Amino acid sequence: MSNIIVLVGAPGAGKGTQARLIQERLKLPQISTGDILRARAETGDPLGQEIRSIQAAGKLAPDDLVIRVVQERTAGEDCKDGYVLDGFPRTLAQAAMLEQLAKRQLMPIVAIAIDVPLDVLEKRTTGRRSCPVCGEIYNMYFKPPQSDETCDRDKGVKLIIRADDTVEKVRVRLQTYERETQPLLAYYAQSNRLQRVDGTRDRVTIYNDLEKIIKDS
Ligand code: AMP
Repeated sequence: MSNIIVLVGAPGAGKGTQARLIQERLKLPQISTGDILRARAETGDPLGQEIRSIQAAGKLAPDDLVIRVVQERTAGEDCKDGYVLDGFPRTLAQAAMLEQLAKRQLMPIVAIAIDVPLDVLEKRTTGRRSCPVCGEIYNMYFKPPQSDETCDRDKGVKLIIRADDTVEKVRVRLQTYERETQPLLAYYAQSNRLQRVDGTRDRVTIYNDLEKIIKDS
């Protein structure tokens, strides 16, 4: 059955990793509003500049903008048999809009919370680094490169840190998550559409749980 899969989790919970695995193995498109907005920011026009400063500050982009992005992207032919939302909805207003969209698309919503304690979230985000050449992702706590902050594959290339993964920005993002996004858990639980998985385990074990939930729904 075709579903709209909503992954709910704090920054660093592993939504992106799991959404990519679902895309790869179940062939459901992964829609990351964070990635779409980051790409939009790259254009450097006035809207792009506005998005860039919102993202860099760790704040949320305006609901109407994000809603438009999701409407446009999910109208694509590849979304007609279901899709995975990674990072949307993040507010109750966005969740309300998704209800309308799901009705129009005749697909039920299955929400899955990926639970990870705060101290692990902090290390996963502030420790995250990536290679600007090959895109390989490292973590200074859990998966450090062999030599100090340079890529194992592209020797000598200095790893970079996402503008919103600094300690101060992560604090803002986690607070924003608690205030704006956490209420979605009660919202989906009330209508019996919420499942929960323990996000502290290895990525494949978590994925296996997700796959079962998606296949059974
Ligand atoms: P992410 O890659 O999911 O961590 O998102 C990075 C940033 O993009 C967030 O901190 C927000 O600034 C913005 N963003 C992504 N998704 C949303 C959303 N659903 N609503 C508002 N802002 C978002």
